[in-house]
Amino acid sequence: MKIGSDEFNEIATKIARLKKDKNAVILAHNYQRDEVQYIADLTGDSLELSRAAAETDYDVIIFAGVHFMAESASILSPDKTVVLTESEAGCPMAEMVTVEGPRFYGTHFPGAGREFCYTYPEEFSLRDIKAKYPGVPVVSYVNTTAAVKAESDVCCTSANVVKVVNSLDSKRVICVPDKNLAAWAAKHTDKEIISWDGFCNVHDRVSAEDVRKAREAHPGALVVAHPECPMDVLELSDHVTSTSGMLRFCKSSDAREFIIGTELGLMYRLKKDNPDKLFHALNPTMLCPNMKKTTIKSVLRALEDLDCVIKVPEEIRVPAKRALDRMLEIG
Ligand code: SF4
Repeated sequence: MKIGSDEFNEIATKIARLKKDKNAVILAHNYQRDEVQYIADLTGDSLELSRAAAETDYDVIIFAGVHFMAESASILSPDKTVVLTESEAGCPMAEMVTVEGPRFYGTHFPGAGREFCYTYPEEFSLRDIKAKYPGVPVVSYVNTTAAVKAESDVCCTSANVVKVVNSLDSKRVICVPDKNLAAWAAKHTDKEIISWDGFCNVHDRVSAEDVRKAREAHPGALVVAHPECPMDVLELSDHVTSTSGMLRFCKSSDAREFIIGTELGLMYRLKKDNPDKLFHALNPTMLCPNMKKTTIKSVLRALEDLDCVIKVPEEIRVPAKRALDRMLEIG
């Protein structure tokens, strides 16, 4: 929907009224649609949003993101009502590792569409791989379910994975679920990384050829890539960092032009924060269909109905929080 159109303004007015009535805050991930980021109270990556919301006095958190992100908000704010804006917005990568039982590859449709997914035959659960490597600590990326976090020793983000891995008193470390983030960590540590073979289908699709073409089209622009991209892309990039890192890097850099290797939703903030700079997509198909399920109408419906409450049960929340807290202590 066009920001500023009559319909947009009408919905935005209703949202503002409901937010006040219900003492709610709207969080939008950096990959959300422009219209959703525009009306959000806070935008950012999943962990920074959940941490910020936990420190507020709001009763209701409306999370415009995907399922694991709302779970993280619930883990950190157990006394608040956390509502996901679209019940079917899942993360395929988070689904690629389960505590027990088969894991699913393909688009995530909770409660439906499992026929579109297939299971992986070997070492198919986190408990299986832990049994194969007894005593080896598990580092789980924040892009995992609460149940997987609860089964892990410590969490990591794309920004601190190397620091977390290096902090562990073990020569070997299991990293789940992203094989590309694990490869990035392996390149920057002396430890042996036992990698899961999951991936983000948005970032994993880019290639070295995309980098070459983008550099040809925009000579002089800096290539900034997310560590969920494949290693050959990362090796050809000028800077590798998380979404928050990209926002900081592009703002502080003297360069005027950038080629961005992450989900295209980040362009909204990049352009807003840097109106005098130019941003190009590394690959114009880097769109996450799950992130784009949420529209401004979804936010209004979520506020009206509070219909998709995400509540992590205490027996999972407590150990999952321990893994997150351990990461936060490491920094
Ligand atoms: S961009 Fe990738 S990691 Fe993020 S929600 Fe979509 S599939 Fe999951």
